[in-house]
Amino acid sequence: MKITVMTHQTNDKVKAICQKLNELCQEDGFIWDDQMPDVVITIGGDGSMLSAFHRYRDQLDRIRFLGVHTGHLGFYTDYTVDQVDELISDLRQDHGEEVTYPLLEVSLHYEDKQLSPHHFLALNEATIKRITGTFICDVYINRYLFESFRGDGLCVSTPSGSTGVNKSIGGAVLHPSHSAIQLTEYASLNNRVFRTLSSPLVLGIEDQITFKPKNCDRLLVTYDHLAMKANQIEEMTCRVAKERIRFVSYRHMPFWKRVSQAFIGDFSKDLDSE
Ligand code: NAP
Ligand code: MN
Repeated sequence: MKITVMTHQTNDKVKAICQKLNELCQEDGFIWDDQMPDVVITIGGDGSMLSAFHRYRDQLDRIRFLGVHTGHLGFYTDYTVDQVDELISDLRQDHGEEVTYPLLEVSLHYEDKQLSPHHFLALNEATIKRITGTFICDVYINRYLFESFRGDGLCVSTPSGSTGVNKSIGGAVLHPSHSAIQLTEYASLNNRVFRTLSSPLVLGIEDQITFKPKNCDRLLVTYDHLAMKANQIEEMTCRVAKERIRFVSYRHMPFWKRVSQAFIGDFSKDLDSE
């Protein structure tokens, strides 16, 4: 097994984990390889997983990802820094265990046809906003004019990204077993001219959402932790990607338990102490 580690942190605990994984690579069957790894281990938070995903975006068909969290357990992390011995023993007994999650595919087409279209994937979500002023755009679903939006912006998230900014702006939390994407709004302005459904929409694998901005200057497109300023976007299309992300699944934390622990906390413990 070829492994590599991605982390932005340099504290003693992180150094100790890297050291242990390095020692593992002295054993038969393990090689440290950051060019073509089989397993990418991130140490940090969910944000570190987002960075690793984009770093290895071209090898999604063969790489499995695994997250070690330096704080509380995250949505893309299964081990805490204190569980590194369990992690190493699980790696030694690997049988290719994996779980795959859907991704979002985005295409940007520009009014200037000299500019080649942009295609990218997101693990959490993509958003489109205007840097200043309200953002105005027609929203098409499957090439049918669905609504005219005016407001702060629009967000399209994956199921695993639904607990990120999507949730903060009123989206539903969606189990990653659904191959779907969700459209949510940032502060829509509704009147007789601009009217949107104003509730989150969940779309399936056959569907595509197209945004056609009406005021095309000073636009900001974000995907996961990344952002790009863009002008003259003719259209931005979002759909469920053909590619999926693969995670190592040695230990299975049910998704709804993860959601409850992250957002509600361990309330049974609080009750016990009363
Ligand atoms: P960041 O500003 O460091 O992260 C914002 C927070 O979102 C962090 O607590 C991060 O967890 C958490 N997060 C990331 N992905 C998540 C997911 N799928 N489910 C639940 N929480 C998640 O930026 P970042 O670490 O580069 O992450 C970028 C992501 O942050 C974006 O994709 C977006 O989903 C999210 N975000 C949320 C808001 C909001 O809720 N208002 C605003 C901006 C961005 P860790 O601490 O474990 O990294
Ligand atoms: Mn972060």
